[in-house]
Amino acid sequence: MVLRKILNADLNDYFSPIFLDQPNVQQIQLNIRSLLQLYYSTHDIHLNFEYLESLETIEVVIDALISNANKLSDDLAMLHSIALAYFSVVQGGGPFGSVITDDSGQFISAGSNHVTRLNDPTAHGEVHAIRNAIYQNQSLSGAILYTSCMTCPMCYGFAIDHNVSTIKYCSTANDAYNYAGFKDDHLWTMLDSLIRHDLFQPHLFRLTGPLTIVPVRLGDGQDLISLLQSICKTHGFEPLGLRFESDQPVALSLFSYMALRWANVSMPQLIYIQPFKAKIHFDHYEYFSFLASHVLSFYRLIPTDSVYGQQYK
Ligand SMILES: [Zn+2]
Repeated sequence: MVLRKILNADLNDYFSPIFLDQPNVQQIQLNIRSLLQLYYSTHDIHLNFEYLESLETIEVVIDALISNANKLSDDLAMLHSIALAYFSVVQGGGPFGSVITDDSGQFISAGSNHVTRLNDPTAHGEVHAIRNAIYQNQSLSGAILYTSCMTCPMCYGFAIDHNVSTIKYCSTANDAYNYAGFKDDHLWTMLDSLIRHDLFQPHLFRLTGPLTIVPVRLGDGQDLISLLQSICKTHGFEPLGLRFESDQPVALSLFSYMALRWANVSMPQLIYIQPFKAKIHFDHYEYFSFLASHVLSFYRLIPTDSVYGQQYK
C-alpha cells in the first residue's frame, strides 16, 4: 500500500519547498527501505534492514550485499551503488556510493563517500571504490564504474588514471544540488578553461597555511595527495587558509588539481593540468532515479554534526 503510494506520487509531493520546510525524515527513510526492498526483490534478494543498518563500516555492508552474487547485472550493480549511498548516510557519511565490475559484470570493488568520516577531501565514493580495488591489486583496465550520482572532475581524473572505461551514473549533478545541496558544476566549468601543459622539470611547490601547518616543500616524486591527506586528517577536509605555492610553473594531474580545489586550497595562476585523454564513456542510468533522489534528500534532512556540501559556501 505504502509502495503504491510512493511509486505513483509526483516527486514534488515529497520534495517541494513546502515539504522541505516541514521535513519528515522518518517518512523518507521508510520510502527508501520500501523502494530498496522492492527493487532488490526483483533480483530475489531480501534485505534485512535491522542487520544492515546496524553495521558500522561500509566494507561490511559491501560484503553483505555482494554475498548474494559476484556476477552483477547492470541493474544490480547500480542498485548496490545506491544502496551503499543510503547505508553510508546511516553510518554518518556522504550520500554517494559506487560499485566497480569488469566488462563481464564480475564484481571488483565498491565504496562510498568517506570525506567527513576520514577528514579526507579526496575520499569521494568513486575514489574510495577505486582505492579498494588498488589495495587488492585489482586491475581496473576496461572496468565499469557504477555510481549513484554523476562523478565530479576529481573522480573523473582518478578513473582516467586507473583506466576505467565506462562510468554509469544515476542521479545527475542537478539532482545532487536540488535534493542534497552538493555543487560541482563550477569545477567542470573550470576544467574547460584550464590549460593543459606538460612540464619536464620536477614539480617543486609548497603547501602552507596558518597556525600549526608547517610549510612543506614537495618535488622529485613526493606525493602531493598523501601530504594533503595528512594535513586534512588534523585540520579537517577543508583546512582553513591552506595555500599552494610555487615559484615556477607546475603541472598537476587532473585528480591532484581537483583534490586541491575540493580542499579549498588557494592556488596560483601558473598552474597547469597535465594532458589527459578523455576516453571514458558516460552512461546515464535513470531507472533508479526516484530512489537515488530519496537518498540525497534523506542526507539533506537528517541532523548531522558535520556540514558537508558546497551549497554552504
Ligand atoms: Zn568526486
